[in-house]
Amino acid sequence: MGGCCRSLLGLGLAALLLAGCAPPPRRAQLSCAPWPADPRISLPLSVQIPPHSRSVMLVVRGDSEVLYGLASFQIGGREFQDLPLGVLADGLADSYFTTGTGQPPGSLRQFARLGTFTFLFPHASHQPRPEGLLTFRIAASRPGRLPVIDVITPPDDGARILPLNLVFVSERERWELADPPAVLQQAGAIFAAAGISLRLESVQQLRGTGFSTLSSLPEPWEAPGGALAALARLGQAQVPGPGLHVFVVDSLPRGRDGISLGLPGPPFPDSPFFGVILRHSEPATLGRTLAHEVAHFLGLRHVRTATPAGAVLDDGLDDTEPDGKNLMEGGRSLSPGQIEVLLRSPLLLSR
Ligand SMILES: [Zn+2]
Repeated sequence: MGGCCRSLLGLGLAALLLAGCAPPPRRAQLSCAPWPADPRISLPLSVQIPPHSRSVMLVVRGDSEVLYGLASFQIGGREFQDLPLGVLADGLADSYFTTGTGQPPGSLRQFARLGTFTFLFPHASHQPRPEGLLTFRIAASRPGRLPVIDVITPPDDGARILPLNLVFVSERERWELADPPAVLQQAGAIFAAAGISLRLESVQQLRGTGFSTLSSLPEPWEAPGGALAALARLGQAQVPGPGLHVFVVDSLPRGRDGISLGLPGPPFPDSPFFGVILRHSEPATLGRTLAHEVAHFLGLRHVRTATPAGAVLDDGLDDTEPDGKNLMEGGRSLSPGQIEVLLRSPLLLSR
């Protein structure tokens, strides 16, 4: 491609050539068509990954009643999914509604989601850098409205800044709220180990929303029509901007300190799954919970977790141990493999 440019520039066709030789866009929006043999599966979609991409993120947005996932995912000719296409489509509903993990079978680690599905690659250090042609097929739990797919390929530009909005959804008096600088200091010390800086864009309080006390949380994931999604929409309407919304509510169900609306979450502020929700606490605890839930949103799983239905899921990383010290358990430390995943996130900015 470079040689082509150089040879034709001499002909005075610079403008045409620059257009023709421009690298592929870093965000492409695609629509898909159903596969005639099984309308729950899309025909293959292909995108050329721009050079020097730190990751590929797919965001599939469709029918709020339909679960989405990836039936195939191929980069540079290598396929990462090992299931027959129809088996994955069946597995979406089984994993979500029957086993309750939300993690369908197959070698591709993904969470089935209603309405909006998000996937980050690579999400483990043994996976290759994304280069070449990306080809994938979307699976849906049932035929329905065709989804729109965003393919985001952020540059490998050393981005290390994560903008946040801290939103207290609280009926407390303002002076009773946690000290935002102290909370950020606690969370910032954890992310500093990954070289990531938290940038506080704004601190707001929302009163009288009806969301300050959340008495139940959805399993395995929030749906687009749920209360948490409504809170995320309200947050975006009241506190617009690109910073990730960190909602601090007065109470969550017993045993829960926080919840992330995605793993990874979609990097779109207008999404009903854009944000994390934390239970109010003193700064040290709140800061750790903030780091834990934001790390989920960027793409980290629990080192090991048992679902309410009794399934045990791990993080697929080869340098984490369930020893209680890790951020993705009850501690504060991060492994090199986890740091690598965090730094892939398209939510990180270079300035
Ligand atoms: Zn967690």
